[in-house]
Amino acid sequence: MQARLRLPGFVNAHSHAFQRALRGKVEGGDFWAWRESMLDVAKCLAPGHVRSSYAATYAEMRAAGYTAAGEFHYVGLAEAEAAVEAAREAGIELVLLLAAYGRGGLDRFRQESPADYLRQVESLRTSSARVGLAPHSVRACSRDWLDEIGRYAEREGLVLHVHADEQPREIEECLAEHGLRPIALLAETGCLGPRTTVVHATHADASELDLLAEHGAGVCLCPTTEANLGDGFPPLAGLLERGIQLCIGSDSNVRIDPLEELRELEGTARRQELRRNVIGVDQLLAIGSTAGAHALGLDAWPEVEVDLGHPSLAGVEPGDVRAALVHGCGADVIS
Ligand SMILES: [Zn+2]
Repeated sequence: MQARLRLPGFVNAHSHAFQRALRGKVEGGDFWAWRESMLDVAKCLAPGHVRSSYAATYAEMRAAGYTAAGEFHYVGLAEAEAAVEAAREAGIELVLLLAAYGRGGLDRFRQESPADYLRQVESLRTSSARVGLAPHSVRACSRDWLDEIGRYAEREGLVLHVHADEQPREIEECLAEHGLRPIALLAETGCLGPRTTVVHATHADASELDLLAEHGAGVCLCPTTEANLGDGFPPLAGLLERGIQLCIGSDSNVRIDPLEELRELEGTARRQELRRNVIGVDQLLAIGSTAGAHALGLDAWPEVEVDLGHPSLAGVEPGDVRAALVHGCGADVIS
């Protein structure tokens, strides 16, 4: 019998499954050109297509060792229900993070009002789906929307995920509109708390990192996507010294491999700090699993097994297996 190592399943705290279709397509343009192509794909989605294509993407996630995922969903209510079914089919524990989108983007992304958005949330909650709140970003949600969603999150005890500080332009626009940086606006509107996960925070400054720490909010880093889109390096030293909880997401799904996300994360930290072993293997594995479950409000999710007979682990001493996994293996060692 092959020797196997059991580990908590990896948790993908931030996914846009439909963006898997974009891999390899728009490597010539900048972030905003990529976004245009993303909108072209989003325009054509329908529930049947979501059901089949998401099931295929979630099956890839499951094979790579992700056993739970947060689908940050902004392409319609019927499509949200299809995403929940697709995850069930693939054996992924899904939390549907339903996006609130008040302005910009495509017609299909937007709700008419915060009340309209919360009606959609309630409708999903009455089905068997696990649901989280997701004001898309300070670009897509005005202050009024954020106020109302922040109040609802607090009252209902739901997790709240929001993109912030991924691109400098979003910060400039937020400063021009509100006189505040994005994370400061989230704090003022009641959207920053211990059940909040800020996605990216790539260009967060020290004052925003202080706010995250003060409010007990976490940050989801999406290293392979942030590299692919040229977002920049996350402020890892500032995040780590403040003890801000980190988790990972495959985001655009350009790659689906939790070990690669963790390796890219630690590799970035090493390059920034000019030293080795910045985060540590046990903490990295926790970032890839339990921290993501906490961000999604999950108490239980399936374990995974590592094939210790895999060629990538041949000759590795038992005490070195966890480190070899993070630093020397791809997701094909996981079953
Ligand atoms: Zn995202």
